[in-house]
Amino acid sequence: MRVLGIESTAHTASVGIVDEGTQVVAAATDMYKPVQGGIHPREAANHHAELFPELVERVLSQSGVDPESLGAIAFSQGPGLGPCLRAGATVARMLALTWGRPLVPVNHCVAHLEIARALSGFEDPVLLYASGGNTQVVAYAHGRYRVLGETLDIGVGNFLDKLALGMGSTFPGGPWIEKWAREGKTVHDLPYSVHGMDVSFSGLLTAAKALQTKGVGKEDLSLSVESHAYAMLCEVAERALAHLGSKELVLGGGVACNQRLRRMVEEMAHARGVRVFAPPPSLCVDNGAMIAWTGLLSDRSGGRVEVARSEVLPRQRTDQVEARWRVRTTEHVSEG
Ligand code: AMP
Ligand code: MG
Repeated sequence: MRVLGIESTAHTASVGIVDEGTQVVAAATDMYKPVQGGIHPREAANHHAELFPELVERVLSQSGVDPESLGAIAFSQGPGLGPCLRAGATVARMLALTWGRPLVPVNHCVAHLEIARALSGFEDPVLLYASGGNTQVVAYAHGRYRVLGETLDIGVGNFLDKLALGMGSTFPGGPWIEKWAREGKTVHDLPYSVHGMDVSFSGLLTAAKALQTKGVGKEDLSLSVESHAYAMLCEVAERALAHLGSKELVLGGGVACNQRLRRMVEEMAHARGVRVFAPPPSLCVDNGAMIAWTGLLSDRSGGRVEVARSEVLPRQRTDQVEARWRVRTTEHVSEG
């Protein structure tokens, strides 16, 4: 069975087709890049609406798949920006109706975990999800994925993007910070904000901007920021592993493309005897293939919805959705 997935939670419009062996049969992605400042939801949604027909055409011709033979059409239901989610859901509904295929809603954060779980071969990993808008530590318990810790304010990627834009980068800023940090020599002191299982980045942003005003160069500033922010992520991931007694960790989200973060996580995991896996960059960032894969899992366990009941949920929480495909027959499913 092959499933087509549509991703449109934020800046990325992406379509992917996967098969039952997690093979990405075809993928096409285009990112909305604001000329100035942060992401504008309405402009991003317009970008997606304009691009989706071409992206769908591309995956169909790449794969040679007969659309009427698809097992399902999956789409990102939430969390995300309302206008962007609606652009993707509209396309998914239209394709499902035109081709007479079932429609399957997918939680975006769960999809990051499921694609990494499938590619790693791990049974029950903890996910460190570090993206633009989201920063969470997620693990499975009693029928659902649970958020064990998360950012109390902005996502780590948004933090990097905001700082980088102020230092002359284009969007996205994370890769610029990574490049500058490689040339950095001195790590300056910055706030280190871990609160139990949670992290926060807005104080770090303010302090980093203040250092910049004092004349600290972008190379040292980027190195300082990466050292602090990624150490915070490693700490909460490590605490989750310790609490759960887990020996498996996967990474997801665009910031997980970062080589320093990968190295730091690997060091921590190695010291704990934990196996760690990071998907290739194209499957770390937002992508339609992970939505298709999670849609395939969900469809097998009754995850279809009627078009009339396929509303998007911009504030959908990871633990609001039942992960029915993970539930063993002996297991008790608890309420959200
Ligand atoms: P996502 O929201 O998962 O699609 O990821 C996008 C975010 O990942 C943006 O905030 C980017 O700045 C960030 N990002 C992408 N590549 C890197 C990198 N190499 N280092 C740090 N952040 C990155
Ligand atoms: Mg994401």
